[in-house]
Amino acid sequence: MINCSCCNNEATHVLVDYYHNIVNYNAVFCRIHAFQDGRVECPCCDDYDIEYEGTDGKDHELLPTYSYGTLDSDGCCCDHP
Ligand SMILES: [Zn+2]
Ligand SMILES: [Zn+2]
Repeated sequence: MINCSCCNNEATHVLVDYYHNIVNYNAVFCRIHAFQDGRVECPCCDDYDIEYEGTDGKDHELLPTYSYGTLDSDGCCCDHP
């Protein structure tokens, strides 16, 4: 499993940009920390899987979280419905 960068819980979210590209491989968060410190959720992709290759060499599917200001004026990513 991958650990949250803020605590020892399992990471379920990874920080991505507007186009779902991983911003920083160290910016992975558990459910609690995913939307703290200004990080926000996109309503269009709350079940979107981000492929993440973990330090364990395995692929994981994480959910996206965005930095404040990444999403457009509607609060969505590039994946508008
Ligand atoms: Zn955490
Ligand atoms: Zn989205």
